[in-house]
Amino acid sequence: MERPIVIETVSTLQERLAPERAARRSIGLVPTLGDLHEGHFSLIRRARAECDVVVVSDFVNPTQFGEGEDYQHYPRDLERDVQLCAREGVDIVFAPSHQEIYREGFATYVVQERLMEKLCGASRPAHFRGVTTIVAKLFNIVQPTASYWGQKDAQQVAVIKRMVADLNFAIKVVVCPIVRETDGLAISSRNRYLNSDQRQDALSLYRSLNKARELVASGETNSLRLCRQMREVIERTPSAKIDYVAIVHSETLEDVDNIDREVLVAVAARFGRARLIDNMLVSPPAKPRK
Ligand code: AMP
Repeated sequence: MERPIVIETVSTLQERLAPERAARRSIGLVPTLGDLHEGHFSLIRRARAECDVVVVSDFVNPTQFGEGEDYQHYPRDLERDVQLCAREGVDIVFAPSHQEIYREGFATYVVQERLMEKLCGASRPAHFRGVTTIVAKLFNIVQPTASYWGQKDAQQVAVIKRMVADLNFAIKVVVCPIVRETDGLAISSRNRYLNSDQRQDALSLYRSLNKARELVASGETNSLRLCRQMREVIERTPSAKIDYVAIVHSETLEDVDNIDREVLVAVAARFGRARLIDNMLVSPPAKPRK
């Protein structure tokens, strides 16, 4: 179990990666906020299987947290993350300081139209501007061949794919399935904010998605009716406060009223101080061929 190299500055990282690039070795980047768990490992394993060099970035990016959100309390334990990365065969952990990434005088952000204000963007107005900005910076710093993302953050996937296409980043965007606990709860660093009752209630997100899948499979095509039924499932639990229940196009994130092809069913709700998200790609039953 070889310990990955831990690098804290942009210049050291670039020096370390230059010979790899010169030798045309592929570089896989897995961007994370740290506090690594099975969701992150699934991305790392995919990158390990596909790339010569695997870089995990471990940085709690302040610009993607809004006022009153959990930036200060976000779990941080670099040594634990480095040990887990060793187990997963990661080559480099890039763990820069705040000052290294946001130098004095920092003034440039990547802003995207349309996609940012939808779904989570409605209640987290600065979030995706922070995400696109840090990801564009990481892309320029690491210059990876491929980058690895979780379907868990479906809007983030749409936003990053759009940015890569719009700004001509020659970087593959690889999306990995949602990793769940055995009872179905999507794994997230924020699950640790839940007490045991809230942990039970939080399962209603997954139940509501399954309900949508079943209803669509049985021929329901009306999004309004589906959303109403999903809300009922979540609202049955005492601690849930729904942020949104939505049925949208997975790339444009535009609302879909009538489900006649694959849609993204997405939910967000608070359980105590944890704001959790989950989603599922759902398709209507195939029409019998004539
Ligand atoms: P985060 O550290 O929360 O920013 O997550 C880093 C990456 O891991 C993102 O691409 C997430 O979508 C992905 N990720 C987080 N949780 C999961 C999960 N349960 N299943 C799959 N991917 C995940």
